[in-house]
Amino acid sequence: MSKTIDWTAIRADFPILDQEVRGKPLIYFDNAASSQKPRAVIDAVSRYYERDNANVHRGLHELSSRATDAYEGARTKVAAYLGAASAEEIVFTRGTTEGINLVAQTWGAKFVREGDVILLTEMEHHSNLVPWQMLAERTGARLRFVPVTEDGTLALERLGEWLTPEVKIFAFTHISNSLGTINPVADLCRAARAVGAVTLIDAAQSAGHLPVDVREIGCDFLVFSGHKMCAPTGIGALYGRAELLDAMPPWHGGGEMIVSVSYERSTYKKAPYKFEAGTPNIGGAVGLGAAVDYLEAIGRAAIFEHDLALTQHALAGLSALPGVHVQGPRDRRGGLVGFTMDAAHPHDLTTYADQHGLALRGGHHCNQPLMKKLRLPGTTRASFYFYNTTAEVDRMLAILADAVRFFA
Ligand code: PMP
Repeated sequence: MSKTIDWTAIRADFPILDQEVRGKPLIYFDNAASSQKPRAVIDAVSRYYERDNANVHRGLHELSSRATDAYEGARTKVAAYLGAASAEEIVFTRGTTEGINLVAQTWGAKFVREGDVILLTEMEHHSNLVPWQMLAERTGARLRFVPVTEDGTLALERLGEWLTPEVKIFAFTHISNSLGTINPVADLCRAARAVGAVTLIDAAQSAGHLPVDVREIGCDFLVFSGHKMCAPTGIGALYGRAELLDAMPPWHGGGEMIVSVSYERSTYKKAPYKFEAGTPNIGGAVGLGAAVDYLEAIGRAAIFEHDLALTQHALAGLSALPGVHVQGPRDRRGGLVGFTMDAAHPHDLTTYADQHGLALRGGHHCNQPLMKKLRLPGTTRASFYFYNTTAEVDRMLAILADAVRFFA
């Protein structure tokens, strides 16, 4: 990495971090659930509402055309951010969950039949599991899962046992939100293509954390949520290869997605508009565009290295605490650490941390089947982002060392 980054100055871009919680300086380590927002994003959204707000696409007046430019400009930024071939391959959604439901309901309804296999992994978030269960129930397709091994990685040397020609779609997470595992997504897409399966990547934990290029990866669909990468809640995107989006029927019907309507029937716009019925989240898209600009200015490779350094520091410290067990792989992993403490249930430990101004997350992290398989009641998770510091990790380790004695 060539450029020197002033991480302290970057941290100062996040007004929310400068506060005390329960009389202690806030340490925000719940970034995998939702990240904080820099001033640049907050200001972009305020500016939009203060100066440009109107409905998009239909209006023949100045504000409407500014709002349309802002909304479509954000789409172009997201396309570039993901390395998509064109902005038409980007559908705005409410987030990861909605993106997966869109694919399961439209692509799935058209292309999945009884007896087909939907291949997932054992480490999927509920949002990359439940929509496929619903599709399987409706169509008679079968679900199959690539197992997670003891070290928290996928059993890839045996992938061929599950990735067979009956597989219609292989949907998997890029980074596990509870184990931190980084899956080799390009390899998985290559293997899927070899058996004629379509791929969907859940990039909820990766899109804001490391370089993601859909054409380099070779995926068919990829979904993410803006709120985990500095943007507002309620906005995210689905990337879909043009050919696939064109072949898919719309899902929500209404304004914005039609070309013409009669009482009996309607004709629809092309992708991505046929998937965006009704007034979209324009302010959210503006915020997402600003977040993309902000992250690009720092650089995702630098963000990844920063977060990895914090994670390795946390891993070393946690492993030295008696009765604390870290989950997931040791070396190559995303910026989060899930762990258990023999003496305390994850909920109790997380509540204890909160008393010290330390925001962790305790529970199953929307990974109930995985927790069951690992025979865990849940974990406590610390998840980092580029505005966090080594000093904060040290403070967390001191709080957890006190917790070991407190709960003993
Ligand atoms: N997948 C993964 C891996 C996640 O971590 C999350 C958020 N916890 C989701 C999907 C769901 O994201 P959202 O709630 O923003 O739709």
